[in-house]
Amino acid sequence: MFKTVQEVQSAIKSGCSVTEILDEYLLQIRKHEHLNAFVEVFEATARADAHRIQEKITKGIAGKLAGVVIGIKDNLCYKGHTVSASSRILENFTSLYTATSVQRLLDEDAIIIGRLNCDEFAMGSSNETSAYGPVLNYLNPDFVPGGSSGGSAVAVAASLCTVALGSDTGGSVRQPASWTGTVGLKPTYGRISRYGLIAYASSFDQVGVFASDIDSASLIYSIMAGKDPLDATSSSKKVDAPQNYPNQLRLGVIKDYMKLPGLDASVKSAFDSRVQKLIQQGHEMREFSFPYLDYVVPVYYVLSTAEASSNLSRFDGVHFGKRSELAEGIDQTYINSRTEGFGLEVKRRIIIGTFVLSNEHYEAYYAKGQKIRRLLHKATKEMFSEVDCIILPTTPSSAFKIGDIKDPVQMYLQDIYTVHANLTGNPAINIPLSHNSNGMPFGIQLMADHFEEGLLFHASRIVNNALV
Ligand code: GLN
Repeated sequence: MFKTVQEVQSAIKSGCSVTEILDEYLLQIRKHEHLNAFVEVFEATARADAHRIQEKITKGIAGKLAGVVIGIKDNLCYKGHTVSASSRILENFTSLYTATSVQRLLDEDAIIIGRLNCDEFAMGSSNETSAYGPVLNYLNPDFVPGGSSGGSAVAVAASLCTVALGSDTGGSVRQPASWTGTVGLKPTYGRISRYGLIAYASSFDQVGVFASDIDSASLIYSIMAGKDPLDATSSSKKVDAPQNYPNQLRLGVIKDYMKLPGLDASVKSAFDSRVQKLIQQGHEMREFSFPYLDYVVPVYYVLSTAEASSNLSRFDGVHFGKRSELAEGIDQTYINSRTEGFGLEVKRRIIIGTFVLSNEHYEAYYAKGQKIRRLLHKATKEMFSEVDCIILPTTPSSAFKIGDIKDPVQMYLQDIYTVHANLTGNPAINIPLSHNSNGMPFGIQLMADHFEEGLLFHASRIVNNALV
């Protein structure tokens, strides 16, 4: 089994063929079909790619990711392959072009092995809203893997691919990473192109990476990062080469975040012990007051649903999306196609988003939400003038059992520690921290200033090595 990019690269160096590596992953995929992580395995194209890349290796002209096998979330386009956002409305839709993030990996000779199950249109925190059914947690199939990139998280945890791509709008990479014991990065907003990523909430969406180790995540990130003329919101700021970062870190803890009533005692105690260990090792620890915890989830759900209602309006059975068999006349075409094509959670979001954008309620919800977002941005920026990274839990608890959370608000509260970085655009990462008494893992989250991914990875290594 190959768990990291480095393991793949050393296997190649010692004479292992790309097809042998691919076969190993395909075997793992077959063994773990019951987890429902893959919606589709692109076996034929992956095999053809393996041959082509092997020839390049023989000629000495292969890219940095030769032999690396990557799974992509079912909301990233890959030309000639189906992409559905795990929704019935996009059933059998074939990508007409390849997402820039995926293309940059292909350009380095990565193999794309398939598309990974997710919550429908990336809306969810448990991977239970997919049209293809729930993804089961690799560590215990009674539990959810988190969402919305649950398939990507499980694929990495179960070694079904070397690394996987996900998308993180409110925590969909970091939260499932926390619940599957994997590393999950959400880069700065604008750092990786969103071209070819099916939009959910465009001012929040970022492509992210799942890996078993920090080095693999960092390498994959660095290949995807950077300006893309096809995404006007991608930043033209140069991607920093790794620098000599300080060995002694200035870290920040937000005290208000640690007083959350729903914070599980074992998550809190593992977090506190890691903080103590870091202090013992000489890292500076500052406490911040950031009295906005009650606002982050409501503001996120007002603004993200507003954007979602607008983004998803194109799926009407005419412009985009599967047309209902019962379509007759324009109104019935829209109504029936959307009724049949969208699942319950997506409909709920469209209705909430339409409401908060409506003429009568715009000021009270959408406009107010934008003002609070600005406030959070400013307060966060101020914290980063004093510290290198903020550390916080990734999730208030470890994973729950499939079907256990039925109340949507309860579900939304799973994102309480992750939406902050999406509201403010900061890069953030989950690294594994510990396990609960039932054996289910949870992680610790680090957040850095905008475009400071290099420092974020450096600090992650220090926090990861400061084992208690
Ligand atoms: N759970 C959050 C939501 O449902 C985040 C989803 C995401 O990051 N894509 O909106």
